[in-house]
Amino acid sequence: MKTNFIIAAALFCLCLSSFAQEKTYPAPEPMRPGMSEYWTPQPKVVTPGDILINTAPSDAIVLFDGKDLSKWESSKGGDPAWKVADGVMTVSKEKGSGDIRTKETFGSFQLHLEWRVPEDIEGSNQARGNSGVFLQGMYEIQILDNYINETYVNGMVGSVYKQSPPLVNAMRRPGEWNVYDIIYTAPVFNPDGTYLYRPRVTLLHNGVVVQNNVEILGTTEYIGFPKVRPHGDGPIGLQMHGDPSKPISFRNIWIRRL
Ligand code: MG
Repeated sequence: MKTNFIIAAALFCLCLSSFAQEKTYPAPEPMRPGMSEYWTPQPKVVTPGDILINTAPSDAIVLFDGKDLSKWESSKGGDPAWKVADGVMTVSKEKGSGDIRTKETFGSFQLHLEWRVPEDIEGSNQARGNSGVFLQGMYEIQILDNYINETYVNGMVGSVYKQSPPLVNAMRRPGEWNVYDIIYTAPVFNPDGTYLYRPRVTLLHNGVVVQNNVEILGTTEYIGFPKVRPHGDGPIGLQMHGDPSKPISFRNIWIRRL
């Protein structure tokens, strides 16, 4: 009897102490950029064929015809600091500059743009001709010089940044013009802000399919996982990346609403 009482008292004390002490768990490890990057398998290199000189179809909205940046603004607001000369626009990396975006906004679209890495580009990995195209201002299609320059494959040229590597590497050598043709389907959101239908993208790089109707998971974050942010129509953005390599140029940009 006495033994039973002692056991019961001990159990009671144990219960009390477990209530008194709140259980603790380790905090999540802070995300670092490398946690969302992977390097293998590297996509096969494909030499693109010749592409005819591309002029805008009759129903396209011409976003840049080589003359001025009247269809564009700084993503910080105000006029863009990028420069136009000899029919091409060039990223400005000067202090106070930044990304640019179209004044007009778009839902689903077909977008054509041409871009060129300087012939005398230097640098490696992500610090070599880095820029990007933002679809609806939210989702980055990476622009990078991956001509004999490896990086993490889900952040290389033709990738949906940090999400989907390109099927192949169709990069032209520095100094030559690259062509992106992007077919984009805008997402549809549920009333609670989650995706009913995720955004989708098909990308041709120099006429070669590198993304085939790929589902975009959310925002294209440098650190951490994609986020779901409800949005409506958005601009086309072009990135001024802060790496020290020479700035890239763009020409012949047009878009068709779908
Ligand atoms: Mg970029």
